[in-house]
Amino acid sequence: MNFSNAPFIIPIFIPHRGCPHQCAFCNQVTITGNTSPFPSKEALSRKINAYLSFKKNRTKPAQIAFYGGNFLGLQNKTIQSLLTEAERFICSGKVESIRFSTRPDTIDEQQLDAIQKFTISAIEIGVQSMDDHVLLKSNRGHTAGDTTKSSGLIRERGLKLGLQMMTGLPGDSEKRSLATAHQIADLLPDFIRIYPTVVLAGSPLAEWYRAGKYSPIPLDESVTFVKKIYQFFNLKGIPVIRIGLQASSDLDNGENIIAGPYHPAFGHMVFSEIFLEQVENILKNETNIREKSIVIHVHPRSISKMRGLKNRNIEILKNDFQLNSIAVLSSERFGIDQLEVEIPAEEG
Ligand code: SF4
Repeated sequence: MNFSNAPFIIPIFIPHRGCPHQCAFCNQVTITGNTSPFPSKEALSRKINAYLSFKKNRTKPAQIAFYGGNFLGLQNKTIQSLLTEAERFICSGKVESIRFSTRPDTIDEQQLDAIQKFTISAIEIGVQSMDDHVLLKSNRGHTAGDTTKSSGLIRERGLKLGLQMMTGLPGDSEKRSLATAHQIADLLPDFIRIYPTVVLAGSPLAEWYRAGKYSPIPLDESVTFVKKIYQFFNLKGIPVIRIGLQASSDLDNGENIIAGPYHPAFGHMVFSEIFLEQVENILKNETNIREKSIVIHVHPRSISKMRGLKNRNIEILKNDFQLNSIAVLSSERFGIDQLEVEIPAEEG
């Protein structure tokens, strides 16, 4: 996962605006902590300018992103008004493009025609699952067929397609989630986001959890499973640009997450497991590794992923392979996902 080319995002949250109902797992106010009223043209402009004032890297493109609701479910005049205001920043050269997230069942030819004149670079669809049983149980109100159809329409227009999937939804299983990942890959998205389901305060799922009708996946199982899905997309060459909810003081306050595999460093934990697995696979093929001191070389930005949270990976490797010591050294000659294990040669 390389964010160096990622644009400077100016997030405009529109919590639950345009949503036909509340999906079982969702509470955007809890996720975003945003309770401010729907932005007027003036408020939108002020917000964009405020974000631009924090932009340090002049060469990085800026992108206005409407998140947290169902953008194309807004009234047409509202969509036009928000996009017209955003477009003013593109005309002035301060912003490069616009993106938004929306439900698959709100995308059709007519909607795409209506926004064609704006500089939209990407549309993200909340897929969540490609299993109609899971979609029904999660109260999504659309089918997998809607996602297939809308993805095709977006790609036909030459727009970037982002797909968001969830794991651990009501009625879901590892098998169903993996099938979802396969079907998502077949839709040829430009990027993916993966969100493990957590029980958010104020969501229908919170009621189901309290009533014993829903059990979330434990954190460690969720990390291992999301790792498999990430590795699948990686093999397919599809970038995964986000794993897990974005940490925030609202999410971390101990009240908004009722249960489930939330961790502020969820993505980091997934990558740590990938690094651990790679080293384990190398060491398994070694004979007489006991009591040796090894050195692991990684990219400077991957040191903490290699070590794991609180040095967890180092402890596991030392214990499982009875190693004397493990040093982790950084070098720019390695890619962000690469590593090399140096094992001292046998003496004599
Ligand atoms: S998941 Fe999307 S469509 Fe469903 S309630 Fe949340 S923001 Fe609205």
